Amino acid sequence: MLVPEDDAAEARKRAHAKGLYPAPLNAGRSRNMQANRRRDTKPEVVLRNALHALGYRYRKDLLLRLEDVKVRPDIVFTKRRVAVFVDGCFWHVCPQHGRQPTTNEWYWTPKLRRNMERDARVNDTLRDAGWSVVRIWEHEALNDAIASVRAALD
Ligand SMILES: [Zn+2]
Repeated sequence: MLVPEDDAAEARKRAHAKGLYPAPLNAGRSRNMQANRRRDTKPEVVLRNALHALGYRYRKDLLLRLEDVKVRPDIVFTKRRVAVFVDGCFWHVCPQHGRQPTTNEWYWTPKLRRNMERDARVNDTLRDAGWSVVRIWEHEALNDAIASVRAALD
């Protein structure tokens, strides 16, 4: 990495303020929550709202029962059989931000590993059943996330 992560985040924020960089799905989440408690700024909600505004209709919180796996994707297009997950960088171990925890490693590392294994099993089971699976990191730009969903729907 060319610059420390904090500096990179600051640089992105400044670039975004100038309109140079697309806003990440979780931009300023905690600050936004303080400034405007009524609006849910969770990354999956940001994406859902954007898709809805573009005219897409989907199910949320729909439980899919597949063989030995029960899973609740963040966004489901039932007719097209597309399941969308917006994954948190820490819990799902994003290659950019999901660094291994250094404190309480005996607890966290197996837990994170289990999360990764479950994600892989869910992907395989859904795909075997004929679903398209879209995994989006919470750090991704909204426009990129929308493009990924659209690509799966086409
Ligand atoms: Zn990330």
